[in-house]
Amino acid sequence: MKQHFQTVILGGGTAGSAAAFLLSRADVSTLMIERSAPRGWKIGEGLPPSSTALLQQFGLLDHFCSDGHLPSHGNRSAWGSAQFAEHSFIFEANGHGWHLDREKLDRMLAESAVRQGAQRFEHTSLINFFQTNDGWELELSNGTTIHAEWVIDATGRNSHFAHRQNVQRQAYDHLVAITGLFITDHDQDQDSLTTIEASEHGWWYTALLPERRRVVAYLSDGDLPLTKEARNPDRWQQMLFESTQIGSLMMKHNYQLHIPPRMVNANSSCLPTAVGDRWLAIGDAAAAYDPLSSQGILMALGTALESTEALLAHRKGDTRAIPAYADFVNQIYLEYLGSRDYFYSMEQRFPKSPFWQRRTHTKRRNP
Ligand SMILES: Cc1cc2nc3c(=O)[nH]c(=O)nc-3n(C[C@H](O)[C@H](O)[C@H](O)COP(=O)(O)OP(=O)(O)OC[C@H]3O[C@@H](n4cnc5c(N)ncnc54)[C@H](O)[C@@H]3O)c2cc1C
Repeated sequence: MKQHFQTVILGGGTAGSAAAFLLSRADVSTLMIERSAPRGWKIGEGLPPSSTALLQQFGLLDHFCSDGHLPSHGNRSAWGSAQFAEHSFIFEANGHGWHLDREKLDRMLAESAVRQGAQRFEHTSLINFFQTNDGWELELSNGTTIHAEWVIDATGRNSHFAHRQNVQRQAYDHLVAITGLFITDHDQDQDSLTTIEASEHGWWYTALLPERRRVVAYLSDGDLPLTKEARNPDRWQQMLFESTQIGSLMMKHNYQLHIPPRMVNANSSCLPTAVGDRWLAIGDAAAAYDPLSSQGILMALGTALESTEALLAHRKGDTRAIPAYADFVNQIYLEYLGSRDYFYSMEQRFPKSPFWQRRTHTKRRNP
């Protein structure tokens, strides 16, 4: 039997779950389709202070605050110099930021969506689809066929739905992250700053997470020889402990590797436009940010809000709402590319390094 939904959201991560919550709250029948299930730890943990206002706008701030996420009071970075400089959130209007248990954030959003009436299929993927006069027909791996008036692509950096329609992402660099999770047996590490350290062939960061855990990531270009070496867990740990100040911090608190390093894509890339005929993209599927910016989760929530408001306005006959959403995504991304270039240009200590050389010749997008 064919089921009908006003909106189908492909991808049940932060962006997809937030959009499902907002649409169901507005009485739009919504189905989320998530291909996997929670895996215990998900990379992406720093939320800037401005996210607090957004969560309040969603009506989910109290729930969020009761979930054990840690406050984050700013950054400490050795960038352009071997000395660490601190940037505190103390003067931010919204107070502190957060170091998240990311699985809990995504679960809270997904469960809130279901409470509002959204349906969620897990372990389900899109097998086939075609466009009809009034939307889409979607064949799913669980045997169901769905009719949807609109599809939201929230599949992250794959932008699966756009990709299957031959809409290609534009990539601005080859950045990858090799990320590991550490754990310690004591509570003495109370450092609420994110620590960032530039090195000759890339940069590192670490942040304290709930339950005595710490994430550590090495960021560099995937095609560089040292990055290929760093995919070996022993070599990655050797680089961390022998060549970085972050390594000393980890040793001081006796951190042990809990989840071995794995490589993930971390490049800056986006769709040429975030909207198409009866579909739109949100979160990383629309535009993905360098982790240096700590902007990805905020934009996942922000694009969920902007896109769902655009869809609701469109349903009421506002023909400019959907194109305005595409302009919003485009404008923010252009501004982001400018700040990204500025921050990388501040590191001048490694003029012979291909990683840093490339960042003084970054490819810019025409407005
Ligand atoms: C190393 C690293 C560190 C980062 N640190 C930060 C940080 O500190 N702060 C910050 O704000 N951002 C950070 N980010 C970015 C942040 O993680 C992303 O911006 C954020 O996860 C985007 O959320 P999303 O919902 O758009 O995509 P995702 O979180 O990627 O969710 C996409 C979902 O879609 C599902 N999916 C994929 N394909 C399909 C399909 N075909 N069918 C059904 N489901 C599918 C996936 O399983 C997943 O659940 C970091 C990123 C990296 C790589």
